[in-house]
Amino acid sequence: MRTPLRALLGATTAIALGAALPLTAQAAEAGPPPTSVAASASASANASPADVTPNPSHAAAGVRFPQSAWSYHITSSCSGHEDEIRRGAEYWGYAVETAFQGTRVDCVSGYVPDCNGPRDVGCNWNSGERIAVSTQVNDLALLAAHEFGHNWNGHTAQGCATWKSPYDVMKTWTC
Ligand SMILES: [Zn+2]
Repeated sequence: MRTPLRALLGATTAIALGAALPLTAQAAEAGPPPTSVAASASASANASPADVTPNPSHAAAGVRFPQSAWSYHITSSCSGHEDEIRRGAEYWGYAVETAFQGTRVDCVSGYVPDCNGPRDVGCNWNSGERIAVSTQVNDLALLAAHEFGHNWNGHTAQGCATWKSPYDVMKTWTC
């Protein structure tokens, strides 16, 4: 296991989602992007409470959800993938997209560097300080939902993450 550099300062933890298949194989199998249900509203640092939507529809054993508004911001490295990232954030409810505050979201085109292993396709540092996702996976929205989920949760089980339930979203692998 490789420890992020900042862990040497004491408080950093990183949780990774590994790739179960070589990334190149996944890219070759990539289909059209998932249909986005995200609103097309642009990022706002002043979202009103009316913009914050709880998501009570999928309670699951052992998986924690935010109980109040939380925020995130998507960096320019994710240009063209914003809607998939938003879908992942909105899965948890109470998500507020901002210009600069909350969980920072970075995108990479290969594996995520400086996380736990050499083949991590996603990472969450310090339970929401920052996440990074690889745009080469089959379902970027699912990967984003998984990584945002680490703001409140660890992994639920070994296996391929799916949309089936929050428990499944938080499984260890992207397949
Ligand atoms: Zn994970």
